[in-house]
Amino acid sequence: MKITKIFNSICIHGVLKIMTFYLKPPKGVINLHTLEECLKQRLAFYNNLAEDTTNFDENCLQYMIEDSMLDRAGHFLLRLIAFKSEVFYIEFLKNETYLLKLRLEHYGPEDLKKFMQRLQRQSKECLKEGVVDSLKDIINFIVYVANHVLCKNYLLHIFGNLHKESVCEMYSIDVPFCYCPSLIQNRQFCLKKGYVEVDCKNWQHLLLSLYHSYLRIFLREMEFRQSSITVADDIRIQDLIKTYYYSTSLESNPNTKFNFSQIHLESKYFPLCMLNLYKILESTNRLAHSERFDFSLYLKDIGLSLQDALKFWEMMYSKEHASCSRCTHSWQQSSKRYIYGIRHLYGLEGARKNYKARPCSYYQSLTLGPAENGGCPFKHFSDTNLRKALNVIFPNQDEHFDVIIRERHRDPSAACKLFYKASCNILQNVNVENSDFSSPVEYYLSFKADVGKLGSETTEI
Ligand code: SF4
Repeated sequence: MKITKIFNSICIHGVLKIMTFYLKPPKGVINLHTLEECLKQRLAFYNNLAEDTTNFDENCLQYMIEDSMLDRAGHFLLRLIAFKSEVFYIEFLKNETYLLKLRLEHYGPEDLKKFMQRLQRQSKECLKEGVVDSLKDIINFIVYVANHVLCKNYLLHIFGNLHKESVCEMYSIDVPFCYCPSLIQNRQFCLKKGYVEVDCKNWQHLLLSLYHSYLRIFLREMEFRQSSITVADDIRIQDLIKTYYYSTSLESNPNTKFNFSQIHLESKYFPLCMLNLYKILESTNRLAHSERFDFSLYLKDIGLSLQDALKFWEMMYSKEHASCSRCTHSWQQSSKRYIYGIRHLYGLEGARKNYKARPCSYYQSLTLGPAENGGCPFKHFSDTNLRKALNVIFPNQDEHFDVIIRERHRDPSAACKLFYKASCNILQNVNVENSDFSSPVEYYLSFKADVGKLGSETTEI
């Protein structure tokens, strides 16, 4: 069932009636098992939101009933992840704002009235309890907007006949630009003396923008709160995050061939050069700059989406680096730099170039230093190291190694083609007569096509 239809049906049954900005955390005691389910179901819901899926699991809706304890627990748990992870921060803001949008779209005048009253009351309670200055400012502004919307004329007008949804400008609210960056970035709204005039036809945009800003400010504030840091570092919370966040792809791009959690499984189709980099990354949790660049581009070109690439590198670089690792940076220290670098590769930063993975000739022409790991193994490995690497992939197949090692002295690419044939034959039980590739990406795509075309069973390396 489509997610929008589900929202329709829920509204008809009167479940989604009180919306919230999640100003207040849940109260009471919740057991770990329930918390785990809240996290799991909300992440699943994010996936469904992104896909507007036809395979929606309706069971997760009990965790999404607005402002219920389970709904709040799920939201605040994800807030903890968003505060720890720059990658998830973007996903969190996007999905929570989209969730509010879906909820708002199903409101009638009475629902909106109740929502604004509740928002007004909770905001005042927060101000009474005491909040930091940056939050105080936006909460004060939320109270101002709630007062304005609750004024009888505004509310009656936006649901009345006189209000033409796409054109009406009868009522407007001046919003400080810092609370509505999403409204000005597309230049659809005019900025006058630091304020944006938001007409009644855009009342939903106004609330979404305020909610987005509130979450953004709150998440930045969490960095300075000892209580947030303590909870986020709790071993039980860390376990939940590792189990669910790092095993779920939030990507819904139809061009995505696989998600980051399947990279290990996909590595059985990698050419030896990329498999070598992947194994180094797995064992040391780091790659040197140029190797990371090559491996990232390779992953991009074989179909890893941007979101999954960010999550993959975040997962790897959040772990301790090995003592022998040439890179000692961590995601925690340099997340902004890494995110920028990965987005750059995907053509979203800087010169916005569409970078392409390099061909075999490039890898074979490299002159490697003693501690460098890139290059083409059929060109750069010593005979002993190449034999060792092959032995890990095809144990006890010495007759193949001798041929490959002899061939690589004549032509590294021809030796790689022999390796390709042997991989198809020994690991996938597929006989391939000819192989034609001139880059690691072509190797991977051709391998998958050959294996897929013949429909053989796959075996993990
Ligand atoms: S020949 Fe090309 S694909 Fe094969 S290992 Fe060398 S660089 Fe990689």
